[in-house]
Amino acid sequence: MATTIINKNGVVSLDSISSETDLKLRPGFNINPPPQDGRCECCGRHISEVKPFGKAGDPLAGDFDGALLIKKWRPDGPYDENAEKAWDKAEKHLADVGLKDQDPLEWLIKNYGKEKGEYFYWSYQLYCQTSKSWECRDCAVLYEDEYILKKYGNVKNQIK
Ligand SMILES: [Zn+2]
Repeated sequence: MATTIINKNGVVSLDSISSETDLKLRPGFNINPPPQDGRCECCGRHISEVKPFGKAGDPLAGDFDGALLIKKWRPDGPYDENAEKAWDKAEKHLADVGLKDQDPLEWLIKNYGKEKGEYFYWSYQLYCQTSKSWECRDCAVLYEDEYILKKYGNVKNQIK
């Protein structure tokens, strides 16, 4: 049976699902609903193929006994130290010249070239943004870097 975070005034937000029935949208407004295809949003396996979570400590501290997918929050991209440094430099420069509210994209492109500048721009922002991720017990325990690697492959080394 699904567990809920919110179920009030026509607003529903689930925390975990335990069956195909739990995948169905509830009446009202569904916040970050479970994946309608019933697949883990990291490894892509269907709920019919995953092992359920056990009681508290199996494998997570919270008690998700019987859950097939749980809702987690993950960064939308991998951490990249170079992107963060470039972004910080851009912000410092823009602040120094009195343009602290200006979007840093133009500065990044001017200083790192179009491809690398755009990569730094989007990479840093994606890492700073988090989104829901419905995950099976094998994926829910992954550290951020492991999660990104499993879901997207090695994206960090595609642009250097
Ligand atoms: Zn998974």
